[in-house]
Amino acid sequence: MNAEPSHSKTWPMVMAIGLALLLAIAGPLIPGLASPFGRVLPLFEAGGDIFLRLLKMLVVPLVVCSVMAGVLGLGDVRKLRRPAALTLLFFLVTTLIAVGIGLLCVNAIRPGDHAALPEESATAAVTARLDRPDRPKDTGAILANVVRMLFTDNLFASAAKMDLLPLIFFAMVFAGLLTTRGAAGEPLKKLIFETNELLLQFVLLIMKVAPLGIFCLVVGRFGEKNLKGQLYGELVKTAWYMGTIVSGLAIQVVVLLVLYALFTRRSPWRFLRDMSRSLLTAFSTASSSATLPVTIECAIDRAGVSRQASDFVIPLGSTINMNGTAHYEAGAALFIAQAMNIPLTFMDQIVIALTATLAAIGAAGIPEAGLVTMVIVLNAVGLPESGLAMILSVDWLLDRFRTTVNVFGDAVGAAVVDPAFRSVAGSEPVPAADS
Ligand code: ASP
Repeated sequence: MNAEPSHSKTWPMVMAIGLALLLAIAGPLIPGLASPFGRVLPLFEAGGDIFLRLLKMLVVPLVVCSVMAGVLGLGDVRKLRRPAALTLLFFLVTTLIAVGIGLLCVNAIRPGDHAALPEESATAAVTARLDRPDRPKDTGAILANVVRMLFTDNLFASAAKMDLLPLIFFAMVFAGLLTTRGAAGEPLKKLIFETNELLLQFVLLIMKVAPLGIFCLVVGRFGEKNLKGQLYGELVKTAWYMGTIVSGLAIQVVVLLVLYALFTRRSPWRFLRDMSRSLLTAFSTASSSATLPVTIECAIDRAGVSRQASDFVIPLGSTINMNGTAHYEAGAALFIAQAMNIPLTFMDQIVIALTATLAAIGAAGIPEAGLVTMVIVLNAVGLPESGLAMILSVDWLLDRFRTTVNVFGDAVGAAVVDPAFRSVAGSEPVPAADS
Protein backbone atom coordinates (compact mmCIF):
# COMPACT_ATOMS: atom_id res chain seq x y z
CA MET A 1 0.00 0.00 0.00
CA ASN A 2 1.27 3.45 -0.69
CA ALA A 3 2.18 4.69 2.71
CA GLU A 4 1.58 8.41 2.73
CA PRO A 5 -2.13 8.92 3.27
CA SER A 6 -2.52 5.89 5.51
CA HIS A 7 -0.64 7.59 8.32
CA SER A 8 -2.99 10.51 8.52
CA LYS A 9 -3.69 11.27 12.14
CA THR A 10 -6.42 10.00 14.41
CA TRP A 11 -6.74 13.17 16.46
CA PRO A 12 -8.93 15.08 13.95
CA MET A 13 -11.48 12.27 14.35
CA VAL A 14 -11.23 12.38 18.15
CA MET A 15 -11.67 16.16 18.07
CA ALA A 16 -14.60 15.81 15.66
CA ILE A 17 -16.41 13.42 18.02
CA GLY A 18 -15.60 15.58 21.07
CA LEU A 19 -16.83 18.78 19.40
CA ALA A 20 -19.90 17.02 18.03
CA LEU A 21 -20.85 15.70 21.47
CA LEU A 22 -20.33 19.15 22.99
CA LEU A 23 -22.47 20.81 20.34
CA ALA A 24 -25.23 18.19 20.38
CA ILE A 25 -25.43 17.91 24.16
CA ALA A 26 -24.81 21.48 25.33
CA GLY A 27 -26.01 23.38 22.22
CA PRO A 28 -29.76 23.00 22.65
CA LEU A 29 -29.44 23.96 26.33
CA ILE A 30 -28.07 27.45 25.63
CA PRO A 31 -30.98 29.90 25.66
CA GLY A 32 -32.01 30.90 22.16
CA LEU A 33 -29.90 28.22 20.49
CA ALA A 34 -32.32 25.29 20.55
CA SER A 35 -34.47 26.49 17.68
CA PRO A 36 -31.62 27.45 15.26
CA PHE A 37 -29.97 24.18 16.23
CA GLY A 38 -33.14 22.31 15.30
CA ARG A 39 -33.21 24.09 11.95
CA VAL A 40 -29.65 23.15 10.96
CA LEU A 41 -29.92 19.61 12.33
CA PRO A 42 -31.16 18.17 8.99
CA LEU A 43 -27.97 19.48 7.38
CA PHE A 44 -25.84 17.52 9.82
CA GLU A 45 -28.02 14.47 9.34
CA ALA A 46 -27.60 14.74 5.56
CA GLY A 47 -23.80 15.12 5.94
CA GLY A 48 -23.62 12.06 8.18
CA ASP A 49 -25.80 10.08 5.82
CA ILE A 50 -23.56 10.92 2.86
CA PHE A 51 -20.49 9.71 4.78
CA LEU A 52 -22.30 6.51 5.70
CA ARG A 53 -23.34 5.96 2.09
CA LEU A 54 -19.76 6.46 0.89
CA LEU A 55 -18.54 3.77 3.27
CA LYS A 56 -21.40 1.37 2.55
CA MET A 57 -20.89 1.82 -1.18
CA LEU A 58 -17.54 0.06 -0.83
CA VAL A 59 -18.63 -2.78 1.43
CA VAL A 60 -19.93 -5.30 -1.14
CA PRO A 61 -17.11 -4.94 -3.72
CA LEU A 62 -14.52 -4.85 -0.96
CA VAL A 63 -15.80 -7.97 0.76
CA VAL A 64 -15.93 -9.92 -2.50
CA CYS A 65 -12.50 -8.78 -3.70
CA SER A 66 -10.75 -9.01 -0.33
CA VAL A 67 -11.97 -12.54 0.38
CA MET A 68 -11.01 -13.60 -3.15
CA ALA A 69 -7.60 -11.93 -2.81
CA GLY A 70 -7.15 -13.59 0.59
CA VAL A 71 -7.74 -17.07 -0.89
CA LEU A 72 -5.72 -16.36 -4.03
CA GLY A 73 -2.85 -15.10 -1.90
CA LEU A 74 -2.72 -18.50 -0.19
CA GLY A 75 -2.49 -20.15 -3.59
CA ASP A 76 -4.81 -23.03 -2.76
CA VAL A 77 -8.12 -22.98 -0.94
CA ARG A 78 -7.19 -26.19 0.93
CA LYS A 79 -4.44 -24.27 2.70
CA LEU A 80 -7.17 -22.22 4.29
CA ARG A 81 -8.26 -25.13 6.49
CA ARG A 82 -5.98 -24.55 9.47
CA PRO A 83 -6.12 -20.72 9.58
CA ALA A 84 -9.88 -20.82 9.03
CA ALA A 85 -10.35 -23.32 11.85
CA LEU A 86 -8.20 -21.18 14.16
CA THR A 87 -10.20 -18.10 13.18
CA LEU A 88 -13.51 -19.76 14.02
CA LEU A 89 -12.06 -21.06 17.29
CA PHE A 90 -10.88 -17.58 18.23
CA PHE A 91 -14.30 -16.12 17.38
CA LEU A 92 -16.10 -18.73 19.45
CA VAL A 93 -13.84 -18.48 22.50
CA THR A 94 -13.88 -14.67 22.63
CA THR A 95 -17.66 -14.60 22.14
CA LEU A 96 -18.16 -17.02 25.03
CA ILE A 97 -15.81 -14.94 27.21
CA ALA A 98 -17.85 -11.83 26.32
CA VAL A 99 -21.08 -13.59 27.26
CA GLY A 100 -19.52 -14.80 30.52
CA ILE A 101 -18.39 -11.29 31.42
CA GLY A 102 -21.89 -9.99 30.67
CA LEU A 103 -23.51 -12.51 33.02
CA LEU A 104 -20.91 -12.00 35.76
CA CYS A 105 -21.24 -8.21 35.70
CA VAL A 106 -25.04 -8.20 35.83
CA ASN A 107 -25.08 -10.87 38.57
CA ALA A 108 -22.56 -8.90 40.62
CA ILE A 109 -23.90 -5.35 40.16
CA ARG A 110 -27.62 -6.24 39.91
CA PRO A 111 -28.68 -3.19 37.88
CA GLY A 112 -32.18 -4.67 37.61
CA ASP A 113 -32.79 -3.82 41.29
CA HIS A 114 -32.63 -0.14 40.35
CA ALA A 115 -34.79 -0.31 37.23
CA ALA A 116 -38.24 1.11 36.64
CA LEU A 117 -40.69 -1.39 35.19
CA PRO A 118 -41.92 -0.70 31.63
CA GLU A 119 -45.07 1.32 31.19
CA GLU A 120 -47.99 0.20 28.98
CA SER A 121 -47.15 2.65 26.18
CA ALA A 122 -43.52 1.55 26.09
CA THR A 123 -44.57 -2.07 25.91
CA ALA A 124 -46.80 -1.31 22.91
CA ALA A 125 -43.86 0.44 21.22
CA VAL A 126 -41.73 -2.69 21.64
CA THR A 127 -44.40 -4.93 20.18
CA ALA A 128 -44.70 -2.66 17.15
CA ARG A 129 -40.95 -2.52 16.69
CA LEU A 130 -40.43 -6.27 16.89
CA ASP A 131 -43.40 -7.24 14.79
CA ARG A 132 -41.32 -7.83 11.67
CA PRO A 133 -41.67 -10.70 9.22
CA ASP A 134 -37.95 -11.58 9.47
CA ARG A 135 -38.09 -11.77 13.23
CA PRO A 136 -36.53 -14.98 14.57
CA LYS A 137 -39.01 -17.05 16.58
CA ASP A 138 -37.06 -19.54 18.68
CA THR A 139 -33.68 -21.15 19.25
CA GLY A 140 -34.22 -23.90 16.65
CA ALA A 141 -35.23 -21.32 14.08
CA ILE A 142 -32.19 -19.16 14.76
CA LEU A 143 -29.84 -22.14 14.56
CA ALA A 144 -31.34 -23.10 11.21
CA ASN A 145 -31.14 -19.46 10.15
CA VAL A 146 -27.47 -19.16 11.02
CA VAL A 147 -26.65 -22.08 8.71
CA ARG A 148 -29.05 -20.89 6.03
CA MET A 149 -27.44 -17.44 6.14
CA LEU A 150 -24.41 -18.90 4.33
CA PHE A 151 -26.38 -19.62 1.19
CA THR A 152 -28.39 -17.51 -1.20
CA ASP A 153 -30.52 -18.18 -4.24
CA ASN A 154 -29.67 -14.79 -5.64
CA LEU A 155 -26.23 -13.27 -5.20
CA PHE A 156 -27.35 -9.86 -6.39
CA ALA A 157 -30.29 -9.73 -4.00
CA SER A 158 -27.90 -10.60 -1.17
CA ALA A 159 -25.51 -7.90 -2.34
CA ALA A 160 -28.36 -5.39 -2.47
CA LYS A 161 -29.35 -6.25 1.11
CA MET A 162 -25.69 -6.28 2.17
CA ASP A 163 -26.06 -9.88 3.34
CA LEU A 164 -22.37 -10.56 3.44
CA LEU A 165 -22.17 -14.21 4.45
CA PRO A 166 -23.34 -15.70 1.11
CA LEU A 167 -21.02 -13.30 -0.71
CA ILE A 168 -18.10 -14.50 1.40
CA PHE A 169 -19.03 -18.12 0.69
CA PHE A 170 -19.28 -17.44 -3.04
CA ALA A 171 -15.99 -15.52 -3.10
CA MET A 172 -14.16 -18.33 -1.32
CA VAL A 173 -15.40 -21.03 -3.69
CA PHE A 174 -14.86 -18.88 -6.78
CA ALA A 175 -11.30 -17.95 -5.79
CA GLY A 176 -10.62 -21.56 -4.78
CA LEU A 177 -11.56 -22.70 -8.28
CA LEU A 178 -9.50 -19.92 -9.81
CA THR A 179 -6.39 -21.21 -8.06
CA THR A 180 -6.72 -24.44 -10.04
CA ARG A 181 -6.72 -22.68 -13.44
CA GLY A 182 -2.95 -22.23 -13.74
CA ALA A 183 -1.73 -19.76 -16.34
CA ALA A 184 -5.23 -19.33 -17.81
CA GLY A 185 -6.42 -17.80 -14.54
CA GLU A 186 -3.55 -15.30 -14.19
CA PRO A 187 -5.25 -12.28 -15.86
CA LEU A 188 -8.32 -12.65 -13.65
CA LYS A 189 -6.17 -13.03 -10.54
CA LYS A 190 -4.30 -9.84 -11.43
CA LEU A 191 -7.59 -8.06 -11.96
CA ILE A 192 -8.85 -9.14 -8.53
CA PHE A 193 -5.65 -8.07 -6.74
CA GLU A 194 -5.64 -4.76 -8.54
CA THR A 195 -9.33 -4.09 -7.83
CA ASN A 196 -8.77 -4.95 -4.18
CA GLU A 197 -5.89 -2.53 -4.05
CA LEU A 198 -7.87 0.25 -5.72
CA LEU A 199 -10.73 -0.24 -3.29
CA LEU A 200 -8.35 0.24 -0.37
CA GLN A 201 -7.09 3.44 -1.99
CA PHE A 202 -10.73 4.49 -2.27
CA VAL A 203 -11.13 3.93 1.49
CA LEU A 204 -8.14 6.19 2.11
CA LEU A 205 -9.76 8.87 0.00
CA ILE A 206 -12.98 8.63 2.00
CA MET A 207 -10.99 8.75 5.24
CA LYS A 208 -9.88 12.25 4.29
CA VAL A 209 -13.42 13.45 4.95
CA ALA A 210 -13.95 11.11 7.90
CA PRO A 211 -13.61 13.80 10.62
CA LEU A 212 -16.34 15.84 8.95
CA GLY A 213 -18.45 12.74 8.31
CA ILE A 214 -18.36 11.49 11.86
CA PHE A 215 -18.87 15.02 13.20
CA CYS A 216 -22.12 15.22 11.22
CA LEU A 217 -23.18 11.69 12.22
CA VAL A 218 -22.66 12.31 15.93
CA VAL A 219 -24.24 15.80 15.98
CA GLY A 220 -27.18 14.47 13.96
CA ARG A 221 -27.96 11.48 16.17
CA PHE A 222 -27.18 12.92 19.61
CA GLY A 223 -28.71 16.29 18.69
CA GLU A 224 -31.96 14.70 17.54
CA LYS A 225 -32.28 12.68 20.77
CA ASN A 226 -31.43 15.72 22.87
CA LEU A 227 -33.92 17.99 21.15
CA LYS A 228 -36.64 15.38 21.68
CA GLY A 229 -35.72 15.28 25.37
CA GLN A 230 -34.64 11.66 25.10
CA LEU A 231 -31.09 12.02 26.31
CA TYR A 232 -30.59 13.11 29.94
CA GLY A 233 -33.79 11.70 31.35
CA GLU A 234 -33.28 8.31 29.74
CA LEU A 235 -29.63 8.21 30.75
CA VAL A 236 -30.48 8.93 34.37
CA LYS A 237 -33.28 6.35 34.37
CA THR A 238 -31.03 3.65 32.97
CA ALA A 239 -27.75 4.71 34.58
CA TRP A 240 -27.20 1.42 36.46
CA TYR A 241 -27.98 -0.69 33.43
CA MET A 242 -25.90 1.45 31.05
CA GLY A 243 -23.02 1.60 33.54
CA THR A 244 -23.01 -2.18 34.01
CA ILE A 245 -23.05 -3.02 30.30
CA VAL A 246 -20.45 -0.40 29.39
CA SER A 247 -18.14 -1.54 32.23
CA GLY A 248 -18.49 -5.13 31.03
CA LEU A 249 -17.64 -4.05 27.50
CA ALA A 250 -14.54 -2.27 28.85
CA ILE A 251 -13.49 -5.52 30.58
CA GLN A 252 -13.93 -7.37 27.28
CA VAL A 253 -11.63 -4.84 25.59
CA VAL A 254 -9.01 -5.50 28.28
CA VAL A 255 -9.36 -9.27 27.67
CA LEU A 256 -8.87 -8.70 23.94
CA LEU A 257 -5.81 -6.54 24.59
CA VAL A 258 -4.31 -9.25 26.82
CA LEU A 259 -4.97 -11.91 24.17
CA TYR A 260 -3.35 -9.68 21.57
CA ALA A 261 -0.27 -9.14 23.75
CA LEU A 262 0.00 -12.86 24.63
CA PHE A 263 -0.31 -14.15 21.08
CA THR A 264 1.54 -11.49 19.12
CA ARG A 265 4.08 -10.35 21.75
CA ARG A 266 3.50 -6.81 20.57
CA SER A 267 2.34 -3.70 22.37
CA PRO A 268 -1.45 -3.79 22.75
CA TRP A 269 -1.55 0.00 23.22
CA ARG A 270 0.07 0.49 19.90
CA PHE A 271 -2.45 -1.83 18.32
CA LEU A 272 -5.28 0.10 19.94
CA ARG A 273 -3.82 3.30 18.52
CA ASP A 274 -3.33 1.75 15.08
CA MET A 275 -6.96 0.62 14.99
CA SER A 276 -8.34 3.82 16.51
CA ARG A 277 -9.76 5.27 13.30
CA SER A 278 -11.76 2.13 12.74
CA LEU A 279 -12.99 2.15 16.35
CA LEU A 280 -14.06 5.78 16.14
CA THR A 281 -15.87 5.06 12.87
CA ALA A 282 -17.63 2.13 14.53
CA PHE A 283 -18.74 4.34 17.40
CA SER A 284 -20.07 6.98 15.01
CA THR A 285 -21.85 4.67 12.56
CA ALA A 286 -23.04 1.90 14.95
CA SER A 287 -22.48 -0.51 12.08
CA SER A 288 -19.70 -3.12 11.76
CA SER A 289 -20.52 -3.54 8.09
CA ALA A 290 -20.22 0.16 7.29
CA THR A 291 -16.95 0.25 9.27
CA LEU A 292 -15.53 -2.80 7.47
CA PRO A 293 -13.57 -0.87 4.79
CA VAL A 294 -11.87 1.23 7.47
CA THR A 295 -11.11 -1.81 9.64
CA ILE A 296 -9.39 -3.62 6.77
CA GLU A 297 -7.44 -0.51 5.85
CA CYS A 298 -6.26 0.12 9.43
CA ALA A 299 -5.30 -3.53 9.97
CA ILE A 300 -3.19 -3.73 6.81
CA ASP A 301 -1.74 -0.24 6.60
CA ARG A 302 -1.35 0.72 10.22
CA ALA A 303 -1.29 -2.40 12.38
CA GLY A 304 0.81 -4.46 9.96
CA VAL A 305 -1.54 -7.45 9.87
CA SER A 306 -0.94 -9.49 6.69
CA ARG A 307 -3.25 -9.00 3.74
CA GLN A 308 -4.34 -12.63 3.77
CA ALA A 309 -5.38 -12.54 7.41
CA SER A 310 -7.08 -9.14 7.13
CA ASP A 311 -8.82 -10.00 3.87
CA PHE A 312 -10.26 -13.21 5.26
CA VAL A 313 -10.77 -12.69 8.99
CA ILE A 314 -12.19 -9.16 9.07
CA PRO A 315 -15.07 -9.56 6.55
CA LEU A 316 -16.03 -12.86 8.15
CA GLY A 317 -15.74 -11.39 11.64
CA SER A 318 -17.88 -8.39 10.76
CA THR A 319 -20.79 -10.74 10.13
CA ILE A 320 -20.38 -13.55 12.65
CA ASN A 321 -18.00 -12.36 15.37
CA MET A 322 -19.76 -9.91 17.63
CA ASN A 323 -18.23 -9.86 21.11
CA GLY A 324 -19.99 -6.65 22.08
CA THR A 325 -23.40 -7.82 20.88
CA ALA A 326 -23.08 -11.21 22.61
CA HIS A 327 -22.11 -9.49 25.86
CA TYR A 328 -25.04 -7.13 25.56
CA GLU A 329 -27.60 -9.82 24.73
CA ALA A 330 -26.68 -11.90 27.76
CA GLY A 331 -26.37 -8.94 30.14
CA ALA A 332 -29.59 -7.27 29.00
CA ALA A 333 -31.63 -10.48 29.26
CA LEU A 334 -30.45 -11.02 32.81
CA PHE A 335 -31.14 -7.38 33.63
CA ILE A 336 -34.72 -7.72 32.39
CA ALA A 337 -35.23 -10.82 34.56
CA GLN A 338 -33.88 -8.99 37.62
CA ALA A 339 -36.03 -5.92 37.01
CA MET A 340 -39.18 -8.00 36.52
CA ASN A 341 -38.33 -10.12 39.53
CA ILE A 342 -38.25 -13.33 37.55
CA PRO A 343 -35.86 -15.79 39.17
CA LEU A 344 -33.45 -17.58 36.83
CA THR A 345 -31.68 -20.82 37.68
CA PHE A 346 -28.05 -21.58 36.87
CA MET A 347 -29.27 -23.68 33.93
CA ASP A 348 -31.34 -20.74 32.67
CA GLN A 349 -28.19 -18.65 32.66
CA ILE A 350 -26.35 -21.31 30.67
CA VAL A 351 -29.23 -21.26 28.15
CA ILE A 352 -28.92 -17.45 28.03
CA ALA A 353 -25.17 -17.79 27.37
CA LEU A 354 -25.69 -20.21 24.47
CA THR A 355 -28.58 -18.38 22.86
CA ALA A 356 -26.82 -15.01 23.25
CA THR A 357 -23.87 -16.50 21.36
CA LEU A 358 -26.18 -17.69 18.57
CA ALA A 359 -28.12 -14.44 18.54
CA ALA A 360 -24.88 -12.47 18.16
CA ILE A 361 -23.73 -14.69 15.28
CA GLY A 362 -27.12 -14.16 13.64
CA ALA A 363 -27.19 -10.39 14.12
CA ALA A 364 -26.33 -8.32 11.05
CA GLY A 365 -23.64 -5.65 11.26
CA ILE A 366 -26.18 -2.85 11.12
CA PRO A 367 -27.48 -0.42 13.74
CA GLU A 368 -29.59 -1.97 16.51
CA ALA A 369 -29.67 -5.44 14.94
CA GLY A 370 -28.84 -6.87 18.36
CA LEU A 371 -32.09 -5.61 19.83
CA VAL A 372 -34.12 -7.64 17.35
CA THR A 373 -32.18 -10.89 17.77
CA MET A 374 -32.45 -10.52 21.54
CA VAL A 375 -35.99 -11.82 21.36
CA ILE A 376 -34.48 -15.30 20.88
CA VAL A 377 -32.64 -15.05 24.17
CA LEU A 378 -35.74 -13.88 26.02
CA ASN A 379 -37.91 -16.59 24.43
CA ALA A 380 -35.40 -19.32 25.25
CA VAL A 381 -35.81 -18.77 28.99
CA GLY A 382 -39.42 -17.60 28.91
CA LEU A 383 -38.80 -13.93 29.70
CA PRO A 384 -41.52 -11.53 28.47
CA GLU A 385 -40.66 -9.54 25.37
CA SER A 386 -42.28 -6.51 26.94
CA GLY A 387 -39.15 -6.31 29.12
CA LEU A 388 -37.37 -4.85 26.11
CA ALA A 389 -39.28 -1.63 26.74
CA MET A 390 -36.87 -0.94 29.61
CA ILE A 391 -33.83 -0.91 27.37
CA LEU A 392 -35.30 0.35 24.11
CA SER A 393 -34.75 4.04 24.74
CA VAL A 394 -30.98 3.78 25.20
CA ASP A 395 -30.29 0.99 22.73
CA TRP A 396 -29.15 3.44 20.03
CA LEU A 397 -26.44 4.64 22.44
CA LEU A 398 -25.33 1.27 23.81
CA ASP A 399 -25.21 0.06 20.22
CA ARG A 400 -22.29 2.41 19.57
CA PHE A 401 -20.26 0.92 22.40
CA ARG A 402 -21.00 -2.68 21.48
CA THR A 403 -20.28 -2.08 17.78
CA THR A 404 -16.88 -0.63 18.73
CA VAL A 405 -16.11 -3.80 20.71
CA ASN A 406 -17.41 -5.98 17.83
CA VAL A 407 -15.01 -4.31 15.44
CA PHE A 408 -12.09 -4.49 17.86
CA GLY A 409 -12.72 -8.21 18.36
CA ASP A 410 -12.41 -8.75 14.60
CA ALA A 411 -9.18 -6.79 14.39
CA VAL A 412 -7.62 -8.66 17.31
CA GLY A 413 -8.74 -11.95 15.71
CA ALA A 414 -6.98 -11.04 12.46
CA ALA A 415 -3.78 -10.15 14.32
CA VAL A 416 -3.81 -13.28 16.48
CA VAL A 417 -4.32 -15.76 13.62
CA ASP A 418 -2.02 -13.84 11.32
CA PRO A 419 0.96 -16.22 11.84
CA ALA A 420 -1.18 -19.16 10.68
CA PHE A 421 -2.00 -17.29 7.46
CA ARG A 422 1.59 -16.21 6.99
CA SER A 423 2.90 -19.75 7.41
CA VAL A 424 0.66 -21.19 4.70
CA ALA A 425 1.11 -18.20 2.42
CA GLY A 426 4.89 -18.56 2.83
CA SER A 427 5.41 -20.49 -0.37
CA GLU A 428 3.32 -18.05 -2.38
CA PRO A 429 4.48 -14.51 -2.91
CA VAL A 430 2.21 -12.15 -0.99
CA PRO A 431 0.76 -9.98 -3.75
CA ALA A 432 2.49 -6.65 -3.60
CA ALA A 433 0.14 -3.73 -3.66
CA ASP A 434 1.78 -1.83 -6.44
CA SER A 435 3.19 -4.63 -8.51
N1 ASP B 1 -24.79 -2.55 15.49
C1 ASP B 1 -24.05 -3.75 15.75
C2 ASP B 1 -22.99 -3.93 14.69
O1 ASP B 1 -23.13 -3.43 13.61
C3 ASP B 1 -24.93 -4.96 15.84
C4 ASP B 1 -25.83 -4.84 17.06
O2 ASP B 1 -26.89 -4.23 16.97
O3 ASP B 1 -25.44 -5.32 18.13
O4 ASP B 1 -22.00 -4.56 14.94
